[in-house]
Amino acid sequence: MIKLITFDLDDTLWDNMPVLIRAEQKAWKRLNDYWPETHKRLDPKSVFEYRLKIREQRPELKYRLTELRHYSIKKILQVCNCPASKAEQIADDLMQEFLDWRHEVKCFPEVQPVLSYLSSKYRIGAVTNGNVDVSRLSVSEYFDFSLKGEDFDSIKPEPTLFLKALELANVAPEETLHVGDCLKADVAGAGALGIKTAWFNPQDKELPEGANPDYVIRSLTGVLRILNTSEDTPLTESA
Ligand SMILES: [Mg+2]
Repeated sequence: MIKLITFDLDDTLWDNMPVLIRAEQKAWKRLNDYWPETHKRLDPKSVFEYRLKIREQRPELKYRLTELRHYSIKKILQVCNCPASKAEQIADDLMQEFLDWRHEVKCFPEVQPVLSYLSSKYRIGAVTNGNVDVSRLSVSEYFDFSLKGEDFDSIKPEPTLFLKALELANVAPEETLHVGDCLKADVAGAGALGIKTAWFNPQDKELPEGANPDYVIRSLTGVLRILNTSEDTPLTESA
């Protein structure tokens, strides 16, 4: 019997690409306000590549997206002759703004009613590799807990976040359903621990060979159908 349902956030509860693109564009514009030399010497592509390079140099930051971005902003400013203390201050301010823009997400219409219903019957958790803070979401009240990769120095498909979720809810893997859009991070990661998995597949993509979610859903409402049928017929369904 399912007691805990965990949800991935980005691209499962909302379409994340437009959010990130908008936040990146605003951050690039703001960089010019803070330190115009950045726009004279760099462009958005080179800033992105610079961040990738920093991630290679400091692999521990792959788990800490906020710290990686903050550090990148600071280094970029210094490359553009901004004094270190000023660069630190700008990075602090710009990072706060970026996180505000990062949280301007619009949940899919079915998210609120589905979470509202589920939260009255099950424990609900968020398990994300991203840096969205659930307490800043319009649907925050439905979550019992939220786990972010950057707080644990570990990201899905690694087991740490999933194991922490089981521990917090005091449930066994088979009493848990994880819902997410990524076959590797969400389905393979949770599935490896014996957690039931629902692959969120809104575009009806073909299931690649080797991937084996317990369920496939095209909308979050599919979770309701899974819970009604899972007691006796655990099968892959299209919802
Ligand atoms: Mg996702």
